[in-house]
Amino acid sequence: MHCRQGQPQSIEITLEPHGGIRGHCSRCLRPAPGYDRLPERRWSFVPLWGIPTWFCYAPRRVRCAEHGIVVEHIPWSDGKRPVTCAMMGFLALWARRLSWRETARAFRTSWESVYRSVEWFVEWGLAHRELREIESIGVDEIHWGRGLRADNFLTVIYQIDAGCRRLLWVGRRRSQATLRRGLKALGPGVVKGLRFVCSDMWKPYLQVIADQAGQALHVLDRFHITSHLNMAVDQVRRAESACLRTKSKQAAQQLKHTRWPLLRNLNRVRGRARQKLQALLAAKLATARAWELKEAFRHFWKYRSVLWAGAFLDYWCQRAMRSRLEPMKRVARMLRAHEKLLLNWFRAKGEISSGSVEGLNNKIRVVTRRSYGFRTYEAMEIALYHTLGRLPEPESTHKFC
Ligand SMILES: [Zn+2]
Repeated sequence: MHCRQGQPQSIEITLEPHGGIRGHCSRCLRPAPGYDRLPERRWSFVPLWGIPTWFCYAPRRVRCAEHGIVVEHIPWSDGKRPVTCAMMGFLALWARRLSWRETARAFRTSWESVYRSVEWFVEWGLAHRELREIESIGVDEIHWGRGLRADNFLTVIYQIDAGCRRLLWVGRRRSQATLRRGLKALGPGVVKGLRFVCSDMWKPYLQVIADQAGQALHVLDRFHITSHLNMAVDQVRRAESACLRTKSKQAAQQLKHTRWPLLRNLNRVRGRARQKLQALLAAKLATARAWELKEAFRHFWKYRSVLWAGAFLDYWCQRAMRSRLEPMKRVARMLRAHEKLLLNWFRAKGEISSGSVEGLNNKIRVVTRRSYGFRTYEAMEIALYHTLGRLPEPESTHKFC
């Protein structure tokens, strides 16, 4: 133990090879005769009693019959990293509960070493995970960072089976090439076994899914349709608000602070927000009409029969087209153009849970919002797999957390 002014600074544990046991070749793991010894190296270990702890060991080199002169296999280490596997696993597990920066601070190490530890953990998990019995996947695009350049979008593939919901793949951009790359990474065995694919109406995705997973029922799910409708209501509100502002300040007040109540489901709006919403509806504003259309569409999801749902869709689209609200008309046109895929929701009914894509999508946002902590895209990708991938974990002899 090293102390300064009576305070413990670090614990150094010096290890010696067992005299009677030969070193093992690091490439084939077979025992081999010794050759020489390298200078001492240090690996950081899990802090004991809050004191930074190090393993010190001078590795042997062995003469393997097959691989020549190589460094021996070191059981607590993986590759050239100066961190023990136990410490990497320890940091990686904490990095799921705390931010990476907080983890680094709590265990007196660097952000970089937390990053490398999570990376190691995730790589191990991805190499050891099993991709079997995947019946339903959701494909989604996620916005990331600032701006709307192609690089600011991610394509994600989730497994959304009732028994297992997890992130399967994430890739940069949202083009056909991205999704093709993702499906290729899952392998033809997985893609050909799919029964349901859930996605938004994003054109590049629609084509790739039709090409590669033609046997699966392609469903446009509720979550995405609802967010298109909400976006349209919000566009109407903004345009109207700007228009009222030019007329009078008082008129514009009507729409102030109404964004959230308008986007929520009616039965979730309470108190003053509810009163404001009622007043808005009574005032016959364009925003109110848009909101009514959006609320009316919720009825669509209650149908059981494809036929009736189709009839309702026709009726709703007609109403929207007559509304003189351009954003609502745009949604109606979009829904009409994708009627078949939209009605697949009823053909798959009961087999796909409506909340699963939404739930995973929200969780992803929590991670990407923290993205300023992740300096690079690569770091964020690793964080996503780490928190949402449900990856298997390397075994450890000691449990520290
Ligand atoms: Zn060997």
